[in-house]
Amino acid sequence: MANKRTDRGTIQIYCCPFCEQRLWRLATSKYYLFYKYATEIRKNLDVSAKKAQFLAAQNSTYLDSKKWIEAFCCQKYERMWRLISLQDKEYEYRLAKEKDWLQTNKQNI
Ligand SMILES: [Zn+2]
Repeated sequence: MANKRTDRGTIQIYCCPFCEQRLWRLATSKYYLFYKYATEIRKNLDVSAKKAQFLAAQNSTYLDSKKWIEAFCCQKYERMWRLISLQDKEYEYRLAKEKDWLQTNKQNI
């Protein structure tokens, strides 16, 4: 008999910033952030100016695989977009701002 284990390590508990209830992931796509300019790369990736320039020169846009916008919902709100950033295996999240959307390939939802 198959023993279906939950991989607890992959489950992230998010709390709603407004009602503090549990947030649920919506099955929507993730919108990754990407950067065009060395200055953006440097600021967001926290790398040296030289490295940022190198990365910018390599690709026309640099996709940040550790930052994305994803939709969540709680009991009160049907949908809210949050910016998730993965740093040293820890997730940081906050509400996605207008300027975050500008870094994605999806301008406005
Ligand atoms: Zn809520």
